Amino acid sequence: MRIHELKQRLRDAGAGASHEQRILRLWSHALPRDSGRRLPHSFFPASLMAALPSIEAELEGLARIQAVHPGADGSERLLVALADGQTVESVLLPRDGLCVSSQVGCAVGCRFCMTGRDGLLRQVQSAEIIAQVALARRRRPVRKVVFMGMGEPAHNLDNVMEAIELLGTVGNIGHKNIVFSTVGDPRAFERLHRERIKPALALSLHTTKAALRRELLPRAPAMTPEEVVGEGERYARTTGYPIQYQWTLLDGVNDGDDEIEGIVRLLSGKYGVLNIIPFNAVDGVGFSRPSWERCEALARTLHRRGILTKLRDSAGQDVDGGCGQLRARAAAARTA
Ligand code: SF4
Repeated sequence: MRIHELKQRLRDAGAGASHEQRILRLWSHALPRDSGRRLPHSFFPASLMAALPSIEAELEGLARIQAVHPGADGSERLLVALADGQTVESVLLPRDGLCVSSQVGCAVGCRFCMTGRDGLLRQVQSAEIIAQVALARRRRPVRKVVFMGMGEPAHNLDNVMEAIELLGTVGNIGHKNIVFSTVGDPRAFERLHRERIKPALALSLHTTKAALRRELLPRAPAMTPEEVVGEGERYARTTGYPIQYQWTLLDGVNDGDDEIEGIVRLLSGKYGVLNIIPFNAVDGVGFSRPSWERCEALARTLHRRGILTKLRDSAGQDVDGGCGQLRARAAAARTA
């Protein structure tokens, strides 16, 4: 189900604008089961009250939590089953954040990513994105939503932008606290500039070398690192939010001194922060994680050279962290 279809169903049942807003608000705040009981019945047309139980049951059936894997850092990795049996991952992050998935699988095929191995299986519908938020909110408050789970949001733009519109309005998430994460896609940049609700932007850079980037992100749109940063800078200056440049650090691949020079050349004076995320070990992908000392030394050097750099350990590292790993593990267990 897509959100505009849900809205149409509500209107067809006699909902006015305020009824619709109220129902969407309750849903995105995790209360679909209770909305009939909590709503002031007297304000709702009888036709809407009659239709609500089946609409609510449908919303309730969009997704369910199949497994919860708590991490030592306070994160919780949720394996979410969708109505057709497909599964996606959401991660509850420390400090009220939630990472959601926008696709089942992914077509970009990053060499270091488990999700990319199967290619794209299907798009996650806008209502299924909100369902991930609603399910997470039943466990704890969510004040930040990042599109950094499975999938490339730029390849599912209509659904993702529809979900962002709802999150940034009745969903009560501050626009700066919605993070659209992409490998960089001209269509996505163009669309983001046009949208009323402008999320923050995270750009997966991973290297400053165009040839290596093509190798690591084989089916990403053909943009050079310079072009990606150029678009990022334009968006940052328009919105007033800094760009988060993402860099998965791979031992012996993109952790050398030449990359340090490239980063200084590309990011000096830019409105952004470089997030260095040491690679999460994935069986059989042929990459490894640099030593923590190497990661720290790199971050220190970049800081000294004037680049705002944060060294991050991705949440859920100790619970099959890394996008797509939990889903892959669950699939393996099912077929074992
Ligand atoms: Fe897709 Fe992101 Fe995995 Fe790359 S890292 S294959 S963009 S899910």
